[in-house]
Amino acid sequence: MPEGIAGSELPRKTMGFITEDFLLQNKCAKRLYENFAAKQPVLDYHCHIPVQEIAQDRQFGDLYEIWLEGDHYKWRAMRANGIPERYCTGDAEPFEKFVAWAKTVPHTLRNPLYHWNHLELLRYFEIEETLNEQTAPKIWQQTKERLKSNELSARGILKKFHVRAICTTDDPADPLDHHKALRDSNFQTHVFPTFRPDGAYLISNPEIFNAWVEKLAVTAETQILKFEDFLQALGKRHQDFHDLGCRLSDHGLDQCYAERCSEAEAEVLFNKVRVGKTPNPSECAQFASYMMIFFGKMDAEKGWVKQLHLGALRNVNDRMLLELGRDTGFDSIGDLPQASSIGSYLDSLNRLNALPKMILYNVNPADNYAFATMIGNFQDGSVAGRMQFGAGWWFLDQKEAIENQLNALSNCGLLSHFIGMLTDSRSFMSFPRHEYFRRVLCNLIGSEMETGLLPNDEALVGDMVRRICYENAERYLGLPMEVKHSAGHTNVRDNKSSNGVEPGADTALPARPVRGT
Ligand SMILES: [Zn+2]
Repeated sequence: MPEGIAGSELPRKTMGFITEDFLLQNKCAKRLYENFAAKQPVLDYHCHIPVQEIAQDRQFGDLYEIWLEGDHYKWRAMRANGIPERYCTGDAEPFEKFVAWAKTVPHTLRNPLYHWNHLELLRYFEIEETLNEQTAPKIWQQTKERLKSNELSARGILKKFHVRAICTTDDPADPLDHHKALRDSNFQTHVFPTFRPDGAYLISNPEIFNAWVEKLAVTAETQILKFEDFLQALGKRHQDFHDLGCRLSDHGLDQCYAERCSEAEAEVLFNKVRVGKTPNPSECAQFASYMMIFFGKMDAEKGWVKQLHLGALRNVNDRMLLELGRDTGFDSIGDLPQASSIGSYLDSLNRLNALPKMILYNVNPADNYAFATMIGNFQDGSVAGRMQFGAGWWFLDQKEAIENQLNALSNCGLLSHFIGMLTDSRSFMSFPRHEYFRRVLCNLIGSEMETGLLPNDEALVGDMVRRICYENAERYLGLPMEVKHSAGHTNVRDNKSSNGVEPGADTALPARPVRGT
């Protein structure tokens, strides 16, 4: 597998909007990017890419399929631009939807979409022209042709962007068949599941919860008659995920659950919901609090990293929720208080000696300093960067908010141990987000070298940049990077003891097989 982020091997000068100095506004920034950041591969440790599409090596037909389908960032911009819903999520033809997006692009100046849009067209298709209504037909045709190549299939893209490992987001009730197929294949990018058990603690709707419990029972090959069976089934799935290389869990929460709830109380609530009775909001929070401690203990036992995505206010537009469903672009930043409930949750686990390594992601910029200081309360000297303030996510994955997160972390903790960027994306077109982050990082650090706030010592500062771009994440997450052999069997190597040295065997591996499984 080649070294360096995609784009590092492209021609030195590009004439279009995105140049080789994009976002790099001073000499030190350019040197840091070129000498340290661009050379690092990608470890995308949190995303929502459908694993089936990697397993089946999906080939995309056109820009609509790979770029617009399901992208609620673009839908929001189109709606704000006065484009009718028919062209966002409705029944318009793919090309009509693409033209509607192209019409919108010139109106996205200063929105990160303008940057991402053109960075993506350049890196995937070498297209330097800006997208608008006039250039749309030509770009549609050009990209349609290019998408026929193996280089831009699902697997081809992971290879093109030098993705060493990717962690998808998976339901414990999912049998993980596609993950098994990938494990047994000789595809060289490591694809690991992430344990996301939202279904196990959301009991407000008994019908949904009970259907999920039944699905879990089938996947765990057991019967769930009582609470103990439920916990055992979850434990079994946790182990199954572990056996497939999972080392992370993930929870999307408005706010941390931190109510007191004994096992006996949780059992009463479980039994109540199992017979179809609806619990009140306080009972829902109690049950979820018990389950979050249960999951924290399991993660700690296995040395996993727990991720908490906190603070989004979802599905605000009820009419559109009924019409289009979830994840269609009607969510925003919430303003529920976060600090005290996070503190209580972490403290409860810590008192039980069951606090796993953790990444806390914040979506409200007002909470940056609260998050950055919260992690300091539970650093314990066992692992560098044990508690992480995660990269800016959702509405905060643009230049200004990335800088704000980096500044808060720098001021209240140790930026040096930060595990860096992730795409958090459902799209195969999002891998340049790593490049975007690295350029913002290098620009921020480089500008402080220029002004004397940081020593103009490239070896010292560059080492930190390099580690934030890749090595910190590899060391911290301890994903079992396997050396894959052509017959499909694997040698498992646990990176926890790798001393930060890259498992650089990739260059010695056999060439990527002919695609298609
Ligand atoms: Zn996510």
